[in-house]
Amino acid sequence: MAVPAQSVAVPALSSKLLAAALLSVGVMLLLAYLVGFDQGAVSRSGMYLHELMHDGRHLLGVPCH
Ligand SMILES: [Zn+2]
Repeated sequence: MAVPAQSVAVPALSSKLLAAALLSVGVMLLLAYLVGFDQGAVSRSGMYLHELMHDGRHLLGVPCH
């Protein structure tokens, strides 16, 4: 007599996947802030990051100046 195969419950969202997803979202939010919204608050030496991301900001159509 054949024994029916037992299914193993695997969680759809593991803790490692959750950590990777949260880290990815955090990095994306940081990049979005740096490219789109930073007006010199992050860069301690003036507008360095703003000027570095300036072309990307205009490319994305984010209001700048
Ligand atoms: Zn600009």
